[in-house]
Order: sequence, then C-alpha cells, then structure tokens
Amino acid sequence: MENCDLLIRKADLFDVGDGLDVAVKDGRIAQIGRDLPFHGETELDGAGKLLIPGFVESHTHLDKALTAVDEDTPNLEEAFGIFERYLAKIPEGGIVEDIKARSRKVLDWEVAAGSCAVKTHVLVCPQWGMASHQALKELKEEYRGKLELRGILQWDEAYDKEFRAAARAGEIDFIAGYPLFTPDPMADIDKVFSLADEYGLPLDLHIDERDAANIDCFLRVIEKTKEHHMAGRVTCGHVTALCAVDDELAHRAVMECAEAGIHIITLPSCNMYLMGRKDHQPIRRGVTRVDEFLKAGVNVSASSDNIRDPYRPFGNGDLLEEALFTAQVLQYGTRDQLAEVMRMVTSRPAKNMLLEGYGLAEGCKADLVLLDAPSAKEAIISQPRKRTVLHGGKIVARDGVLM
Ligand SMILES: [Zn+2]
Repeated sequence: MENCDLLIRKADLFDVGDGLDVAVKDGRIAQIGRDLPFHGETELDGAGKLLIPGFVESHTHLDKALTAVDEDTPNLEEAFGIFERYLAKIPEGGIVEDIKARSRKVLDWEVAAGSCAVKTHVLVCPQWGMASHQALKELKEEYRGKLELRGILQWDEAYDKEFRAAARAGEIDFIAGYPLFTPDPMADIDKVFSLADEYGLPLDLHIDERDAANIDCFLRVIEKTKEHHMAGRVTCGHVTALCAVDDELAHRAVMECAEAGIHIITLPSCNMYLMGRKDHQPIRRGVTRVDEFLKAGVNVSASSDNIRDPYRPFGNGDLLEEALFTAQVLQYGTRDQLAEVMRMVTSRPAKNMLLEGYGLAEGCKADLVLLDAPSAKEAIISQPRKRTVLHGGKIVARDGVLM
C-alpha cells in the first residue's frame, strides 16, 4: 500500500491486535498489516498507543446544552423553570441561531475529544416549534467532514404536518418518544411505533426514567418491537425503573429485551445526578441493570445525556470521561470490564446509531482516535489529553485542539 494518504505505524488496535500498521486512503482504512511500505507525507507513530474507532455519542440533547450557565441547577423540579427563563431571554427570531451557537460549542468539544458521531434528541415545543430541527439540519452540513450528526425528532400533535413533511423529505434519522411525559404513555408508545412503520424509521425512546417500581412502558416497547419486527431498530435510553422492581420481574424483562433485539443506552452521569433524590439511606444509584443486560447479550451503550443544562450542570462532551464515570458506577475495574466499557462508548453505540462502515477493519471509514495509552484500561484510568483524532482519514484534532 505505497500510494496511501496516511499511515499509522505500530499501533495497538483495540479488539484487533498489537503493533499493527494502518494505511488510510480516500477516507477509509485501506490495509492493516505489519511493516507496510509508505512513502507519503503523514506517518503517525502509534508505538505504545491505543488506536480505537471514533467515540460515538448516541444520546445527548444539544438543543438544551449550556442553557444553565447563569443559574444553578439544584434539582429536577426547578429545571423546567430555569429552561423557560433562559428561553425568555433570547431575542425574537433568534432561537435557531442560539441553538446552533450552543450546539457548536459542544460539537467542537466532541470532535476535539475524539467523537466521530453524535446522535441528539430534537425537542419540539410551543416555545420554539421546529426551530431545533432547523438548527440541526444546518449543523449537519456545517460539521460534514468533522463528525456525523444524527437527530431524534419528537412527534408532537401540534406539529404533525411539519413532522410528516420532514419525514417525507428524508430529514428524520430517528423518531423520539417520551411516553412518561404524556397523558397516556401506552397510547404514545403505540403512536410512535405506527409512525415508525409508516415512514420506515428507527426509534429512540426515553423509557421509564424514574425511581418508581413500574416498568410498564419498557414491557410495552418490548411487545411492540416484536409485533412490528423492529429488532435492531429500537433503542431505549435510561430504563432506570428496572432497578426498582424485584429481580424476577427484572430478569424476565431483560431476557425479553434480548429476544426483541432492543438496544439500551445507560446515562450514568445524568441518572446519578437526578435519580433517587427522594430516597433515604441507602440511596439507590438510579442506573439501569447494565451487567444483566450485557450478560443476556443486549447491546448496551453509555452516553453523556444532558450537558451543562438545567438537568445536569456537568459534561464536557468527552466520551472517555463518561467511560471513567460509567466504570466507577458499574463497579467495573478489571481489564476485561474496562474493555467492555470502551466498547460501550465506541462499537456498541455505533450499532444503535446504525452507522455504516464503522470499525477497525479494511474498508471501514478512517474515523479513528490514537490515544496516548497502551490499553483501554490505561486509557480510561489515565484519561490522556494527548489524542490524535481522524475523521474521513484527515486529522481534525490533536491533543484537544481542533485543526
Ligand atoms: Zn436524555
């Protein structure tokens, strides 16, 4: 592979093998091997470094991000008021630009940290109608070549016409669902599945994000996924109520979820901040049953969720940082467990996002991160700032700085 564009020399490829050369041509991995000949310009020294496919942020809320910079965010009850007060300060007609400006800051952090794809929920609400959808459409173009951006659009009866026009125009990547925030959660689940059928779109739902011992929404989604033959095309985020039900019911739900082929996303940093607030000691952790899901063969990812908004004051758009937090919450500390956590922010979310050409194999997109650490375990523990980020075979960030 002498005429390739870039070569990474002697890197340790995550889940593939150590001391391998990776040749990149036309934005893809052209060849993986040992001692590959190279006469091009850009050769990166990968010795003692871990090469991973890009981080994948599969559940965040860009349109709400950074809306809590002027106010403290003490609890969930006050979150909505803080958000309303933030929106009231935006000048008329300025909402799309405001969403874009805040989203850009987070997306730049994501690129610098090594994310190659971000899937964001797109809120439709009376205050801004479809403005978030419009902002995302423009941002997708703006970030082409730096990361892939996908949206999860909410259906709202008041904007039914706009939703259907967007679906027909091919502008919707995933349909959202927030059944617990609607008057009739079961009817809401049925509605999003019928829309998924009608437009042939995958679903990404916030499910049972609460402490009460009630997993009715999750069970309904499992049933509907089987009924609509949507294995691999339905993702459930949160599923925190699964911690509150007894082991027998939880086990049954986990096994049925595996059978239905539903993806799970755990959001430990947001759940740990918000859930279990009314508990007296012992206070529950509020994180879904990740270990049981993984053992049952369910595809589980971890993601940031809210970033510096009224729901969570933290977040840097860095999946390696989220991996560290996830590992601590899950009490995962062995080499194998930390490799699994690394998959939960890379290859596993790539599956729920239905990303094409993702991975460390010949022919895959050259969306890569070279981390200054010898293994996934060391990378999660030491959080190296020294990272080289490639998107489409081009270096887009180095050591936290955008190119
Ligand atoms: Zn969320």
